[in-house]
Amino acid sequence: MASAAATRLQAGWSRLKVPAVAWEPLIRLGLDLAEDVDRDAGTVTARLRPGDADRLAGLGIRVLSDSGAVKEEAFRLPEGYTPVTGIQRRVRSLAERHPASCQVRAIGRSVEGRLIEAWRLSGPSRDARPVVVLLAGVHARELAPVEVALALGEHLTEAYGRDANVTRLLDIREVWVVPLANPDGRLRVEAGDLYWRKNARPLPDGQIGVDLNRNHDVHWHLGNARTTDEDYRGPEVASEPETRAVRDMVRHLRPRLVVDVHAFAGMVLWPPGVDRSFTPEESLFSRLARPVANRLAYRSGTLARVLYRVTGDVGSWALAERGALGLTVELDDQGFQPSFAQAMKDWEDWRWPLRWWFDMAVDPLSAPLALPPEPKPLRLPAFGLPGLS
Ligand SMILES: [Zn+2]
Repeated sequence: MASAAATRLQAGWSRLKVPAVAWEPLIRLGLDLAEDVDRDAGTVTARLRPGDADRLAGLGIRVLSDSGAVKEEAFRLPEGYTPVTGIQRRVRSLAERHPASCQVRAIGRSVEGRLIEAWRLSGPSRDARPVVVLLAGVHARELAPVEVALALGEHLTEAYGRDANVTRLLDIREVWVVPLANPDGRLRVEAGDLYWRKNARPLPDGQIGVDLNRNHDVHWHLGNARTTDEDYRGPEVASEPETRAVRDMVRHLRPRLVVDVHAFAGMVLWPPGVDRSFTPEESLFSRLARPVANRLAYRSGTLARVLYRVTGDVGSWALAERGALGLTVELDDQGFQPSFAQAMKDWEDWRWPLRWWFDMAVDPLSAPLALPPEPKPLRLPAFGLPGLS
């Protein structure tokens, strides 16, 4: 449950109690906020800079608990997680082993020139099929989403031609998975900057990094223009090559669904982020999200209502630009770098809901009101498909 996130604070972070009237002023302060907002309880975790405690007190916001400073010890990726170089190997090796159902596509390059790669997963038919997209690793410090994306791609590919349910899904859909949308940022985390969130853009004033999930062309001008802040929107709309890689992929593929996986809060969120209104697609989002949120005991609703005001995010942009249903998932972890076992539990939790979304995205109003149980793997005889043994 999301409330569990409150029970253990990461080093350098504080738990805040925020009165209802103080949320907007808090957002304007530009604090580094975790995504574990609880509007009902009025709490959120934040990383305070010198002087922030006084500013918070002035707004009537209390510091409930404080973990103290980050200890000066070398950060190591928790055991089990795949480092950036290993992610690239896993992406390519899957496609080499299963060329009929899995191909690697470079969708762009990062600020520092690293390839941003996507899996295209689909049955061998050439017929056009509805496309769905899953993104992970946009925020560098959020480790578990990347493992979920890797596990998803490997699961779908390896089950294709063996499990009739997965085979059917990839025969009627084209699934694109981007396991690591911000490779430069992730490398900074691996190098010891364990709470790095943004990309690695050097800025003229000496600051570094743009928040890639505030950089898209949707109410961008309302975003945070302070380069020192973790949610800095960037110097202009889609200024970052990582943003443009995702933008161009979505423009080209016209997906029905874009799922952007973050951590850590236990939420399923959808547009709009900019205010508390509802989009015309509200009932579609709700039909997709609520059965899954109910099953997993996640909270669900619009970004602005359940999280906080967000502009320039990929989900709101994909809906506005291409009519794609942009869902944001906040995995229910304790902190940004949970144990690898927790990341694998996230994957177990999400394996079936993601497949169900990919299936239902084309006609959400036909979706049952409760998530059906995960179907048992239905063995197919292993013949007639290339590359299978
Ligand atoms: Zn995030």
